[in-house]
Amino acid sequence: MLFELSTGWKLRMTEEQWDNVQKTLQNIIGSNNYVNWIRPLHFKGVVEGVALFDVPTNFLGNYVEQNFSDVLLTQLSTTTPEIRRIRFQVPTSRSSSVERLGSPPVRAKPDITETMARDDNWPSAPLDKRFTFDTFVVGKPNELAHAAARRVAEGGSVSFNPLFLYGGVGLGKTHLMHAISWEILCRHSDLRVLYLSAEQFMYRFVQALRDRKMMDFKELFRSVDVLMVDDVQFIAGKDSTQEEFFHTFNALVDQNKQIIISADRAPGEIKDLEDRIKSRMQSGLVVDLHPTDYELRLGILQSKVEQHKAQYTDLELDEQVLQFLAMRISTNVRVLEGALTRLFAFASLVGRPINMELTQDCLSDILRASERKITVEEIQRQVSEHYNIRLSDMIGPRRIRTYARPRQVAMYLSKSLTSRSLPEIGRRFGGRDHTTVMHGVKRIEELKLQDGQVAEDLELLRRALEA
Ligand code: ADP
Ligand code: MG
Repeated sequence: MLFELSTGWKLRMTEEQWDNVQKTLQNIIGSNNYVNWIRPLHFKGVVEGVALFDVPTNFLGNYVEQNFSDVLLTQLSTTTPEIRRIRFQVPTSRSSSVERLGSPPVRAKPDITETMARDDNWPSAPLDKRFTFDTFVVGKPNELAHAAARRVAEGGSVSFNPLFLYGGVGLGKTHLMHAISWEILCRHSDLRVLYLSAEQFMYRFVQALRDRKMMDFKELFRSVDVLMVDDVQFIAGKDSTQEEFFHTFNALVDQNKQIIISADRAPGEIKDLEDRIKSRMQSGLVVDLHPTDYELRLGILQSKVEQHKAQYTDLELDEQVLQFLAMRISTNVRVLEGALTRLFAFASLVGRPINMELTQDCLSDILRASERKITVEEIQRQVSEHYNIRLSDMIGPRRIRTYARPRQVAMYLSKSLTSRSLPEIGRRFGGRDHTTVMHGVKRIEELKLQDGQVAEDLELLRRALEA
């Protein structure tokens, strides 16, 4: 096979040589990887030291580039020393496929970012290329969610249906859902995977109502193999959308199709969500992403640094900066990532190493915002709202259990989330003695271990306060 440019060199690597390279690769990376990733490559030839491959989809090309280009290049250059680089391209001629023209909607192809963007019928939202399992850092707070997501992505018998992932903002719900999509699409390119946000679901639904296309809508949503709905809390209180969602949900579960849902809180905690939907959601596996801990944040930062380094090759980075950021920016991974991206961009612009000084200069706004302190007053307000009592009763003198328990919860949270001393906390609870506060804190510590409801309340409150 020969690729020729009038001004370029002519370099040969025969099909036979490519076959040999493939055999070696199969041994190195294993048959599974080989079948999934290397066999679909179509060798086109070599131009000016660049080996060209046609790939069926951009996704596949990117994946191979990220994961196998080193080993591929090593092998290629062993056979053909002139080869110094590799390029993957999606052939341009394959665009006008018949499939895309008619209804019913086309099947999702692995290169959904391309196909779906152009196709009005298939309502899947585009998937972010960066959100794969490879780039997802696993730690204690998310290991369960990650394991469940992996299992579902492996497919086979539908074991958890639905899989319900929940957790606070920026903890990786969307990332995991995209990762599941990518994985399923890679393993089973014939499956129809539909990923969209609850908001988009509603939008589609309203549009179908308006255009009198409900039959199409129903048919479409009932014909998918895997349905993923992100941020489902959005449809709470939207009655007709919920109704339709419920029917879609049931129809798919009846057909044994996999459903994956995410939300910012547990099904039972979503206000104005119909009870029958809540209980349907709870019938599968419900797992939560806990707030990140220091180790996980540091791990995420380190993995992002590796990605940035590919772009900014000669930047110096002081490890201490990562530790500092992991410590200081604790609520939202998105903010953490943003901080790092900014640091790299800034450092390369001004040609300075990434050290503590640069960090202070460049991130002062983010650091200030993350300094926000939770106050005892906020805690009292949040807790009284949660238990549906008046703030005045929380602070007041009455000792009946209806007030005493929330009061103790608020004391406990004040102790653990603020830097106030026991006497200071006591003063803010209607001038109580510090021993009363101590007693309250101890009581909740005990209950937290014995009573699941208390533990759950605390977790919810802490999240709400830290949000
Ligand atoms: P959510 O949907 O829960 O609000 P996202 O999935 O959008 O959060 O995550 C926010 C950002 O943080 C994304 O860029 C995502 O890649 C990143 N992120 C979150 N958790 C992790 C993780 N464990 N490893 C790597 N990146 C993560
Ligand atoms: Mg999200």
